[in-house]
Amino acid sequence: MKILHLSPELAPWSKAGGLGDAVAALAKSMGALGHEVRVVTPLYGSVPGAERMGVLLPSLQVGVGGDPRKAGCRVRTQSVAPQVEAWFIEHEDYYGAREIYPPREDAGERAHFFARAGLDACVAAGWIPDIIHCHDWTTGLIPPLLNTTLREGPLGAASSVLTIHNLQHQGLHPRRTLDFAGLPAHLFRPDELECLGGVNYLKGGILHARTVLTVSPTYAREILTPAFGHGLEDVVRRRADALHGILNGVDRDEWDPARDPHLAQPFSAGDLAGKAACKAALLRELNLPTEPDRPVVGVISRLWDQKGLDLALAVLPRLLREDALRFVLLGSGDASLEQGFRRLAAEFPAACAVKIGYDHGLSHRIEAGADFFLMPSRFEPCGLNQMYSMTYGTLPIVRETGGLADTVIPWDGEKKGTGVVFTHADLAGVEWGLRRALELYAQPKKFAAVRREALRQDFSWRRSAEEHLRRYAVA
Ligand code: ADP
Repeated sequence: MKILHLSPELAPWSKAGGLGDAVAALAKSMGALGHEVRVVTPLYGSVPGAERMGVLLPSLQVGVGGDPRKAGCRVRTQSVAPQVEAWFIEHEDYYGAREIYPPREDAGERAHFFARAGLDACVAAGWIPDIIHCHDWTTGLIPPLLNTTLREGPLGAASSVLTIHNLQHQGLHPRRTLDFAGLPAHLFRPDELECLGGVNYLKGGILHARTVLTVSPTYAREILTPAFGHGLEDVVRRRADALHGILNGVDRDEWDPARDPHLAQPFSAGDLAGKAACKAALLRELNLPTEPDRPVVGVISRLWDQKGLDLALAVLPRLLREDALRFVLLGSGDASLEQGFRRLAAEFPAACAVKIGYDHGLSHRIEAGADFFLMPSRFEPCGLNQMYSMTYGTLPIVRETGGLADTVIPWDGEKKGTGVVFTHADLAGVEWGLRRALELYAQPKKFAAVRREALRQDFSWRRSAEEHLRRYAVA
């Protein structure tokens, strides 16, 4: 099959969260299964090595409204893996800055432009896809376009797929974006793309894609309910028959403790000596005392309400005062949470280290050096870090929601399970989870058995890619 992915993030070139990782790994896995894959994504100012990339189309006039002088772009190309190419949409005004999601007045036009450029690039290059796979809200106007304006065109026979990586971010933009995209005016009504007087991009994608996917079976059920639907639950319910949850996986080229260049020492399920060295190195790197017997709890996260880390911030002082654990956090986002965690580190300098910012290498070293990894998410469509953790023999402490519920087996108090699972995203839930982890850590034989079980889990992208392909086949 010829498969086109449209995504605003593509690791390692651009990544704000799990989306960049997921699209890159899915594309590579589909290529490895023998399919021809192209991933269209913007060429942000932060993407390194643009001048060394190839040029697929030196100039392409894109089918959008507005100022025709702004409708031109260049399409660069870069090989990702055998059979897999990234097509970067180069447009200085829209994407020349470093940020992936900057707040700007024309955010709706900018969001749509690269995806539409991707469709037009396919036609110009004579590469006609069987599947057009859209990822998240920025690409949401593509399925309605394919069902209306582009229906009789060269891409009209392609089957559209939308993956919801996070239903919270929907893209609500002014009515004029409908004209910019070339969509018929009659779609501006409440049972179509209209929402609160604007155009809701994700709603358009959900209503019009032939297949709607999300990133875990539990999240696929949760988003049918008001508690997780972010106001779109009725829209999602209209597509319940076309909706399926497929788990993401772990990219072993990137996350494998036996050959991870970021670690002080490699290790594997069969030989965990290197993990102890990684723990000591992590504590040294973060200027914490290297006490090998004290459990280290790690966090790597965007600091947003979704992630429930405000709960951790409220609960941790008590545990740190008891000197029960060491806590390390890498993340950025909400200013008050950043400040709160900075203060926590200042209050407990010998037990808590906090790095505000984005640090790829350190994220690998935390996964390797921690004993536990905390994810108290209020909702979590899939979550990648709990899977990376298990792959690194680090036991996740997670709230039972979305992909966390689908990937972590609760410790049964004996030797079964792969982590600690708690039910409620509240203070009592998080404290219970942390204390349960300490209880497990205090019993070395059980802890070792649970760690072995975690290391045995198979979160392969191949399985995920195969399931996608089965869904494509029925689309
Ligand atoms: P989300 O997509 O909601 O942010 P995921 O768990 O699916 O959550 O994916 C987050 C990804 O981003 C992981 O690969 C994680 O390691 C990475 N990440 C998040 N924050 C940082 C950071 N500050 N530094 C390095 N990597 C980070």
